[in-house]
Amino acid sequence: MRLLPLSALSPLELTRALVAFPSITPKDEGCLAFLKDIFQGIGFVTTLLEPTNPDGPWNLCAACGSGEKTLVFLGHTDVVPEGTEPWDAFSPREEDGFLIGRGVADMKGGIAAFVVASARFLQKYPHFSGKIVVLLTGDEEVGTPDGAQALLSWAIPRYGPFTSCLVGEPSSYRLLGDNIALGHRGSLDLHITAHGLQGHAASPERARNPIPLLLRYLDKITQHVWEQDPGDFAASHLEVTSIDVGNPVSNIIPSRAEARANIRFHLQHTSNDIIRQMQTWATEMSPDLIIEFCANGESFLCQDEHMTQALEKAIKSVLNITPQYSTGGGTTDGRFISSHCPAIEFGMVCNTIHHKNERIPVADCERLTQVYEIFLQNFFLES
Ligand SMILES: [Zn+2]
Repeated sequence: MRLLPLSALSPLELTRALVAFPSITPKDEGCLAFLKDIFQGIGFVTTLLEPTNPDGPWNLCAACGSGEKTLVFLGHTDVVPEGTEPWDAFSPREEDGFLIGRGVADMKGGIAAFVVASARFLQKYPHFSGKIVVLLTGDEEVGTPDGAQALLSWAIPRYGPFTSCLVGEPSSYRLLGDNIALGHRGSLDLHITAHGLQGHAASPERARNPIPLLLRYLDKITQHVWEQDPGDFAASHLEVTSIDVGNPVSNIIPSRAEARANIRFHLQHTSNDIIRQMQTWATEMSPDLIIEFCANGESFLCQDEHMTQALEKAIKSVLNITPQYSTGGGTTDGRFISSHCPAIEFGMVCNTIHHKNERIPVADCERLTQVYEIFLQNFFLES
């Protein structure tokens, strides 16, 4: 196979090319097939996994090298839509030193940087000991089981066990390199229904109002302190996101009241513990309270010193910044791989992701590429 010359690979041009595919979940529009050819061109063995149903996502696995130490780069090529305000999301443009387009930060810019970093690393160290396994899904933003979960089930028996995983999500806050995500809290959704008996507002003795019951329960779960000392990890937090009665009049006591909430929970808890506690409070309060739970993921923390040091050293040497470590923010596909190997997240600046005119500094395309390249060197060549 003829390999692509390195001069043909610019992280900026590659980011622009990727952004031009309008790959709104679960559509791919040829984005992963395009990346498959590039990975083959730089010496990876690739497998493009077709959707298993008409609305399913595409997934791609690209691997190179041999040896026990296996680094996974996990990412996604799908993006969110333009949003409610129109803008030219899929025609990347440069303005005032910024590259603007949907996915430049979340996370096509990170993928482009990793592709070019791998190409440079492989050219310098063609006989390095270890494996690089790149796993790219076309569904992270919606997050069906056909995305990263299906891709991991396919890849683990073929390329596992994995030593460590770098997730290329936009982890930087304001400046490239200022933050590494070392883990995330778990996430659990609640749908609470309080049942009552409809009646006249003037005769409450012949009715049962579900609203005070619902409010008592919400007060209980919002006031609870889930851990006395969260330490360095982000504390648990519950947010009530909706209260619905749907009653347009003031002289009828309604028969039901509903609420929705989401809790992000600390490393000290599992979704099962939290469900059990919430259920106990509901049972103690009233048989009229019915709660449905949906667990979105467990909390995790990366404790892989070798990978963390390899990354921190790369950031310091290329960007001259000492990164901070965080465990806040939303869930990512890191939660699926974290039960197989330690996972850390590092990528572009996240302050405009999902916004109109999503942007990154043009210079960050090359800067992130250099960080990833030095990270690969530190990870594979140092013990
Ligand atoms: Zn993302």
